[in-house]
Amino acid sequence: MSDPQANPPHAKKPTPSEVLAILAEGNRRFWQDSPIHPNTGPERLEAAHQGDQAHHALATVLSCSDSRVPVERIFDAGIMDLFVVRVAGNIVAPVTAASMEYGALHVHTPLLVVLGHTSCGAVTAAWNRRQQPGGELEPNIAGLLEYIEPALDRVPPAPAGDPGHGQVDLAVEENIWQALGDLGRLSPLVRQACAEGTVAAVGAVYNLEYGQVRWLDQRKAAEMVAGRR
Ligand SMILES: [Zn+2]
Repeated sequence: MSDPQANPPHAKKPTPSEVLAILAEGNRRFWQDSPIHPNTGPERLEAAHQGDQAHHALATVLSCSDSRVPVERIFDAGIMDLFVVRVAGNIVAPVTAASMEYGALHVHTPLLVVLGHTSCGAVTAAWNRRQQPGGELEPNIAGLLEYIEPALDRVPPAPAGDPGHGQVDLAVEENIWQALGDLGRLSPLVRQACAEGTVAAVGAVYNLEYGQVRWLDQRKAAEMVAGRR
């Protein structure tokens, strides 16, 4: 009898940095309007039916729910390529941390991505609420925005005379760092996997005007997950 541990499903997966390169290349094809739509045909459907996603999926991606951010499409990825977690504002709450933990530990994706995006409505709502407190907001939505609020504290004030239009973009980036820190805090197992190097967690911003994904500083991402910043 073969030992299932001798050849685990993730044994032949690429390294975290190789996965990042694959995603970056897929995004380049997308914004250059030359997608190849990989892994979408009948063979892949059959593999999805018969097989195990843990043999295939390369990255766990936490994205905003926003319809302008179609995750598989912007990475030119197909069936069983990405384990996707979506929630407005790409926040890491206990349930989204659990989903990302599942992606890391059970789907064995070498890379975890927190993907924010420009013009994020959730971040904008949190920002506007900060500027003009006291407005009416549905209780559940207010509860969601609470996950974003700590990130707003780290956005520097706009220079004098600047209308502050760039502040939301800065908040989008800070919200990604916030999510990476929350991920490490809420999932000790993800934090441990990142420390061991079997998994890497990174942040990225999708520019929904140009279709391009900008990858954030990977060392800072590792430090955020580790709780060192
Ligand atoms: Zn959004």
